[in-house]
Amino acid sequence: MGWWNRLRRYFGGADPAAVPELVERLEGRHEDVSVALVELPVQRRPSGEVALRDADATGAMLDAATDQLPHARRQGKERWSCGSCQADLGGMPGAEQRADLRVGPGKGPPFTLEVTMPGWQCWSCGAVQVASDDERANSFREAIMAAMASGGVKRS
Ligand SMILES: [Zn+2]
Repeated sequence: MGWWNRLRRYFGGADPAAVPELVERLEGRHEDVSVALVELPVQRRPSGEVALRDADATGAMLDAATDQLPHARRQGKERWSCGSCQADLGGMPGAEQRADLRVGPGKGPPFTLEVTMPGWQCWSCGAVQVASDDERANSFREAIMAAMASGGVKRS
């Protein structure tokens, strides 16, 4: 990260009006899923538009959620089990759980994706996990889009 910050400072010093290469923080929410994109790498187009530095970053965010977020397993409509020890977690998800995911798109530096969504801490093994189903996967995507839109960041 060191060289990148130096580079950012260099460009910032050269042209105070320049859009930073990293966007400090963008927040978005959809239904019961919230995200924050921290130090998102972006690029400014000649047209003045700001876009993701790497168009694959949204895919990388979805991959990070799949790979790094511990998921409870849905067992039918109203029952969930612990993704770690299979203990019965009961019905509706409990308190909101928060996780920081590291996202590494192909181009540009990695960034942090903060996720807050309903889940559980397992009463049996203590594993923290989120309720992951199709509805919330959709909310997760929508929350990311909302966060980018809040900063006027185009996907590609
Ligand atoms: Zn457990």
